[in-house]
Amino acid sequence: MASLSSLKGIGQIFLKELNEAGITSIKDLLRYFPRDYEFRDKIVPLAEALKFGGGAVKINTVCTVISHQYFGSGWKKTLKIIIQDNSASASLICFGRNFLGNTLQTGKKFFLSGSFQIRYGELQCSSFDYEPYSENPKSFGKIVPIYPSTGKLTSKFFRKIMLQAIETEGRYAEDLIPEKLIRMNCLLPKNKALENIHFPESREMLAASIKTLKYEELFLFQKNIKLSMEKRKIKKERPFAMPRKLQREIAQRLPFSLTEDQISVINMIYADSLKKENISRIIQGDVGCGKTLVGFLSAVPYIEAGYQTVFAAPTELLAKQHMKTASELFKGTGIRLAFLSGRLTGKKKELLLEELSDGKIDMLIGTHAVFSDAVNFKNLGFAVIDEQQRFGVLQRSALIEKGDGTDYIMMTATPIPRSLETAFLGGMEISTIKTVPPGRRPIITYTVMEENENKVYERIRKELEKGFQVYFVCPLIENSEKLDLKNACKTSEILSRDIFPDYPCGLIHSKMGEEEKEEIMSDFAAGKIKILIATSIVEVGVDVKKATSMVIEHAERFGLSSLHQLRGRVGRSDIQSYAFLIFGKELSDNAKERLRIMKQTNDGFIIAEKDLQIRGPGDIAGIEQSGFMNFRLADIINDTDLIKQIRQDIEYAGI
Ligand code: ADP
Ligand code: MG
Repeated sequence: MASLSSLKGIGQIFLKELNEAGITSIKDLLRYFPRDYEFRDKIVPLAEALKFGGGAVKINTVCTVISHQYFGSGWKKTLKIIIQDNSASASLICFGRNFLGNTLQTGKKFFLSGSFQIRYGELQCSSFDYEPYSENPKSFGKIVPIYPSTGKLTSKFFRKIMLQAIETEGRYAEDLIPEKLIRMNCLLPKNKALENIHFPESREMLAASIKTLKYEELFLFQKNIKLSMEKRKIKKERPFAMPRKLQREIAQRLPFSLTEDQISVINMIYADSLKKENISRIIQGDVGCGKTLVGFLSAVPYIEAGYQTVFAAPTELLAKQHMKTASELFKGTGIRLAFLSGRLTGKKKELLLEELSDGKIDMLIGTHAVFSDAVNFKNLGFAVIDEQQRFGVLQRSALIEKGDGTDYIMMTATPIPRSLETAFLGGMEISTIKTVPPGRRPIITYTVMEENENKVYERIRKELEKGFQVYFVCPLIENSEKLDLKNACKTSEILSRDIFPDYPCGLIHSKMGEEEKEEIMSDFAAGKIKILIATSIVEVGVDVKKATSMVIEHAERFGLSSLHQLRGRVGRSDIQSYAFLIFGKELSDNAKERLRIMKQTNDGFIIAEKDLQIRGPGDIAGIEQSGFMNFRLADIINDTDLIKQIRQDIEYAGI
């Protein structure tokens, strides 16, 4: 195979720059696709720019030079070349490029491309590309690729070396898509596709080449997912159906009935347990839809059958809350619970680990500490990872490897946007809880300017008078000199001293000790503290039903999914709840958009979708590991139909 340096025009310097841009072989180079194209295949005469009042119009035409004029004076003199085609006349303004007069001499005919606009009563253009008229123009009369340029590597340079790359290797590229599927989907052979994405013969061929290479990209991606899934399908030895008596009993003594979706997801998880291979299932459901209960109840048949289970949460605060919920839920059942976090040390920890490996614990609840090497189960049958987006991929797989054929579910309140779901299905099962417990009222959201915060205090006071509680969330803990943001400590001081001296306030943030945090949190849960001032530490999972108002200071500083999660701390019962998003003076367009969306909808799915649009898929929690970012052509948002199609094709072709 020829090397990059064998191409004409690539010396040491260019080679180094190419390497830095991640291009180390001709194959890499061929995958360096144009970022755009100049459509110079069709003539767009000058008169087109006269039709549209105002905006610039991209012209592509053949002209003749009529005359040269100059404006300005002395060394600042600028050449203006008067030209005309068969539709109109115009001026080329040669700022700093008076030398163009030497080639574009009066009477000369040439190809011209540039954006023209009416200025000073005439058609003008100051940034243009040209080429002397000829029968076989180099970069006119065709579609010209524009490459992303970096440093010395200009688009023109790429055009030059790409031609050679096509000649030496592109021509001989092998098809990675099976021939059957190429024919079925009217795709191009790989070599044709490469040629045409770089140097399109026509607009149709360009479209076909993009479709082909996109298809190839997504095809390989899904094929890989499928392969890795098959590797994970270790047969597990669970020859009997697990009993569900205890599960039913616990569900029956709940003070409410399970929602339809909770029941169906619990049944789905049970059905997974009967399958021969291991299932990983994502349970997605908006904040407050009752995922915790689904996790706990799903663990019960495993416990009844003699397996151990584990329930992991991303923060100590949340893990503790789960421990409390589980203790109440499992009271009198004989299910043996244990709690493990990084704070457990010494003899106590030793004892716990021993009991765990002896099988004396049925359910271990804890933080990421449950993933650590020292933790060994006797027979781990089932794992629940709550708020999975908060855990790293490695941690998650470490947990799964602790058992032989462990089933596991991951729960998330940051829904995977519908548009990404399709791409996921190859790798994981997804269950969605859509119904919320009955009687829930949509949270009413207000966006409030900083200076009007007094009005918010009045509203809050009314809620407090009714016996309800409130969260105030601030973006920072202590005063930061650079950013004059309200911070939790300061806010706490003001609220407790000046605004609500008659109500007990509490402050909670990540710099506090665990015991202190725990105390504050349990006081808030018990209603001893009415106003909780917090950082985003309360973002995930915290569940206090009587808290009905959420005030977010400097809401413009938070991302959409954080705002949604924070707002989800209220509205957890049938009491009407409120969110107040306080915003400062300097609002970026993005921030305005975020606040607008928050006000407009309570639907976590829509919010996730919007979040994706605003931030791009790279930041969507939990998805980064799937390789979405490596796509050159495919677009996970807009190509969902194609993704579905390919999945069917893969089935059909028996791959
Ligand atoms: P999330 O899905 O955000 O984790 P939680 O599991 O914390 O939600 O549940 C929110 C609240 O709803 C909890 O207080 C829980 O007890 C309650 N809940 C769960 N399921 C139901 C139900 N079927 N009916 C009424 N309340 C429920
Ligand atoms: Mg939860």
